[in-house]
Amino acid sequence: MSGYEGPRVAGQVKQVTSLANPLIKDIKALALKKFRDQQNAFMAEGLKLIIDALDLGWSIRTLVFAKAGYGNPAVEKVAARTVAAGGTVLEVSEKVLVAITRRDNPQMVVGVFSQKFLPLKDIRARDGDVWVALDRVRDPGNLGTVIRTVDAVGAKGVILVGETTDPFSVETVRATMGSIFAVPVTKATPEAFLAWRKSFPGLVAGTHLKGAVDYRSVDFSNGSVLLLMGNEQQGLPDSLAESCDRLLRIPQAGRADSLNLAVATGIMLFEIRRGALKLAPEDVKS
Ligand code: SAM
Repeated sequence: MSGYEGPRVAGQVKQVTSLANPLIKDIKALALKKFRDQQNAFMAEGLKLIIDALDLGWSIRTLVFAKAGYGNPAVEKVAARTVAAGGTVLEVSEKVLVAITRRDNPQMVVGVFSQKFLPLKDIRARDGDVWVALDRVRDPGNLGTVIRTVDAVGAKGVILVGETTDPFSVETVRATMGSIFAVPVTKATPEAFLAWRKSFPGLVAGTHLKGAVDYRSVDFSNGSVLLLMGNEQQGLPDSLAESCDRLLRIPQAGRADSLNLAVATGIMLFEIRRGALKLAPEDVKS
């Protein structure tokens, strides 16, 4: 290692070229939920994303970088931060990086982080806050896209209700495009969610294909909102639908039965936040 922080971490970088190395085996195992749960860890790819994660206080366990990253000041800085946080830094061959990421053209840097869930009891909604609850979301792409959209719209977080796809799977994390580090995620059984929902101070709005109310006719500008979205195949079960103050419908034309879950969530969130998102032109990202 050379350059800015390089010399400080140079002695602490392990070089690995063998797929049989136990550290590499542990990282590869993170492709499976069983091992993610056992290690309470997950993997995220890309230098910018890892820098954001560190800035947001996520704890990094291992930083893996390709030989090509050697001498890159940004990589060296992240390596130094990893060492300072008590993590391990591995410099690996292209072959190892391809095996870890299961990609032909992997990112140059991969980080292994500790998983983090926000306990349901710690959610206290204040005026203007928007939370999204997803009933048994199955598809990692949908979950990742919802997390990314929640981030983009400035909502507070996502509550996963019932058996869901893993927010820390490689596919979900990829689909969040880094928002996994910015958006708190909570897990709850349907029973725990229904009990907690009773103390939610604002409007609980469910979306339902049989919803009686057009989503554009509701005033979301007062108080907080909890948006409840149904499972991809089955929609909201009666128990959850009955817990909503309103059941809303997005009118559709054409032959499609329904909208994709993530698309429907995006439409709802931007409608809910329409009043609040009065961004000054200089605040709008180009
Ligand atoms: N076959 C399912 C059903 O009968 O509900 C379709 C579920 S849809 C793919 C997934 C979720 O997206 C729904 O449960 C609902 O929350 C939301 N959704 C999709 N299209 C919608 C629409 N037109 N109006 C309201 N919600 C919608």
